[in-house]
Amino acid sequence: MNPWIAKVIVVVGTLTMIAIRAPHGRRSRSVKVARSRKTSLETGLLVLAWVGFFVPLIWVVSPAFSFADYPLGTGPFIGGVMCLAIGLWLFYRSHADLGTNWSITLEVRDQHRLITRGVYRHIRHPMYSALVLYSIGQALVTPNWVAGPANVIVFAILLALRVRAEERMMGETFGDEYAEYSARTKRLVPGVW
Ligand code: SAH
Repeated sequence: MNPWIAKVIVVVGTLTMIAIRAPHGRRSRSVKVARSRKTSLETGLLVLAWVGFFVPLIWVVSPAFSFADYPLGTGPFIGGVMCLAIGLWLFYRSHADLGTNWSITLEVRDQHRLITRGVYRHIRHPMYSALVLYSIGQALVTPNWVAGPANVIVFAILLALRVRAEERMMGETFGDEYAEYSARTKRLVPGVW
């Protein structure tokens, strides 16, 4: 397949992500932060996330990673587009359900409420599931060994280093309510983990 199709998909996926997040980013700035757990590790993870955001775009617009290109297959392309579509849908839903409780880092907002409905009913981290699905989709669609897996690696590191700290913060904030919620839900995959 022509790699330009992959480039179009990567750009459309990225623009869709920006469009989903932008209004929440704007709105979250207007809600006061009651408690912040933004450590230097968190800052490092955010920088890493930006690197993961730009690497596929660099592949789209420049030959910088052309040494790692390989031919695009129809099967991985179709599978990748499906993962991207489901990932983007879940990204949209989790933002809609979290509303003003969303933060880009580990923060508790003024009047923070614990959300346990919608896509939060069965899993505690649907937004991270969405990002994992999205990054797998991007890896399948992008026929390049650097730009393709970049976000899979970034989100694996982010999940490994953030989820426990986030759950600790939520547990300290919501006490028994979060303990009960944790007992009846999984982290990323409904019914599995
Ligand atoms: N881990 C969640 C949310 C990611 S955004 C997910 O993957 O869907 C990160 C912020 O969301 C955290 O700083 C925390 O303040 C908030 N948060 C996480 N889970 C929440 C929940 N169930 N209800 C309300 N806020 C939550």
